[in-house]
Amino acid sequence: MTAVPAFAAPAAGVPLERTTIERRPVGENDVLIEIKYVGICHTDIHHVRDDWGRGGFPLVPGHEIAGVVAEVGPGVTGYQVGDRVGVGCMVDSCRKCENCRNGLEVYCTGGGLVATYADTMRYTDGAPTQGGYSTHIVVDERFVLGIPEGLPLEQAAPLLCAGITTYSPLRHWNAGPGKKVAVIGLGGLGHLGVKFAHALGAEVTVLSQSLRKKDDGLRLGADHYYATSDPKTFEELAGTFDLILNTVSASLDGDAFLSLLRIDGTMVYLGIPEKPVSANVGSLMMGRKSIASSGIGGIPETQEMLDFAAANGIGADVEVISADEIEQAYDRVLRSDVRYRFVIDNSTI
Ligand code: NAP
Ligand code: ZN
Ligand code: ZN
Repeated sequence: MTAVPAFAAPAAGVPLERTTIERRPVGENDVLIEIKYVGICHTDIHHVRDDWGRGGFPLVPGHEIAGVVAEVGPGVTGYQVGDRVGVGCMVDSCRKCENCRNGLEVYCTGGGLVATYADTMRYTDGAPTQGGYSTHIVVDERFVLGIPEGLPLEQAAPLLCAGITTYSPLRHWNAGPGKKVAVIGLGGLGHLGVKFAHALGAEVTVLSQSLRKKDDGLRLGADHYYATSDPKTFEELAGTFDLILNTVSASLDGDAFLSLLRIDGTMVYLGIPEKPVSANVGSLMMGRKSIASSGIGGIPETQEMLDFAAANGIGADVEVISADEIEQAYDRVLRSDVRYRFVIDNSTI
């Protein structure tokens, strides 16, 4: 075991503080990563505030990890010391079920994925998992991603969660030329959703609470930008979209947004509100519409996304902060004042 510096929330709702945590010795198939940057995902804040009651304190958040390989186990074949690598939201799964065998580890039915933090290594030693607000992490190479040259590490880190979470549904629901895609919420997920949808060739509309970030939205690749606080938006855009990605974690009026779908359109919930989502059946019936959801993406698709991002010059728009600024960054994320992902410089941990 090796003790490494980290930032942890000691209990629910308590500010994060500097501490040390233990990382397991580098095993046969393990990669030791020196973490250079970690993104601040809204999910980190949900966990630290215990919004979902999952506990797991003391808790080291962070599942948008980018760094450099510092050591590899003897059985590792895909990575070597010095490689640029990333780790996202999961660090293990059963590896045997149908979904795992198909590279959809996120949907593991053989016991579930092991989350990068606030979980336990239930298929191996049962140790608690601790995330990327730390200087190093040890991960089995099956859950390590390669970060292509040309993609700066700080811009790559948010792709490991926010990037794949938007890329995967865009691919699954065939966003591309001739398709009209709306993205609700221009935050961490939303801004990458706009970039990917645009790069895939779709016509992209941002549905934001206000027009405050309109210039940014258009610069990021949106063709249109509307404020959902203006009731005229819902009249003007009725029956427009093939696909809506909802990245908002607050509860929204489901029926109002379903009215914006055209026939056979799908609204994909990516944000995770505390309350169940609801809609009138009539809002789905008249237009054969669907409500769906999607969780991050499997490991092979995450690699595909990173390669696509590098080939298309896509990285996250980031504000790099020191670890001492985490609390201020959390406050700004909660106020929707993030442009568009805070990324911690791990050398400050
Ligand atoms: P974020 O950076 O805070 O962005 C969310 C955006 O939602 C905000 O920028 C804001 O955009 C909009 N918004 C916030 N409060 C709102 C409100 N009360 N009403 C309407 N719009 C509001 O968060 P994020 O990191 O992108 O994460 C978003 C959600 O996705 C979180 O719930 C997170 O847990 C979840 N998530 C899910 C997955 C998955 O696998 N499905 C993966 C990662 C994260 P505007 O200012 O433009 O309106
Ligand atoms: Zn996340
Ligand atoms: Zn499985």
